[in-house]
Amino acid sequence: MPAPVEIGPQDRLFVLTGAGVSAESGLPTFRDSNGLWNGYRVEEVATPEAWMEDAEKVWRFYSMRRRDALRCEPNPAHYALADLERDLGDRLFLCTQNVDPLHERAGSKRLLHMHGELFRSRCEAECGRPDFFDDGIYETAADIPRCQCGAQIRPHIVWFGEMPFDMDRIFAELDRCTMLAVIGSSGTVYPAAGFVQQAHRSGARTIYIGPERPLNATMFSEVVLGKAGEVLPGLFTVPKPD
Ligand SMILES: [Zn+2]
Repeated sequence: MPAPVEIGPQDRLFVLTGAGVSAESGLPTFRDSNGLWNGYRVEEVATPEAWMEDAEKVWRFYSMRRRDALRCEPNPAHYALADLERDLGDRLFLCTQNVDPLHERAGSKRLLHMHGELFRSRCEAECGRPDFFDDGIYETAADIPRCQCGAQIRPHIVWFGEMPFDMDRIFAELDRCTMLAVIGSSGTVYPAAGFVQQAHRSGARTIYIGPERPLNATMFSEVVLGKAGEVLPGLFTVPKPD
């Protein structure tokens, strides 16, 4: 087991979780089988162009993912982060690239879904109606719901080529954290690579947790190799005041 990382009373921990954490619960990712997700290519289903071209196909894909997400359970990594939130309160900032609700189902309350949420939808025309909870399954063009304004309802997901949500808040939290943990997200690609650079510049201790050593391992103060569900429980310790 890796040496425990102690979180002191003044520390603020920023955690970024990526696809590896969901994969350990059995959810597939585009990284499996050469960028295919159950036979779908990224460009076919997860870009604004795909939506313009074939909204029905896009909704079939996200409907399938809604069904898959309901079949999966949180794993020990999700529970370890929920426990950490109970200990640290708002000194933990949990930011996830994952769109599934597994962090919430494990008990995390304050988290930011930078790439959106599988079980929320919104108006494609951005008419002013806010995004909303939606667990609908839409298999045909006729199933796709319409907004009051007449436009189609789309998944509340950040597609390739779109801006992630709440970047201002993310950068503010990166500036003030004293520790950054990147978990189950490739350390070398955006956004994790940018996050570690910024936290590093601010003097934060940076920890990478994943099954393989990242190419930019030297950017991290520590690299903890292993599955998140195996190494995360017990990795962070929060001493109780005497
Ligand atoms: Zn609308």
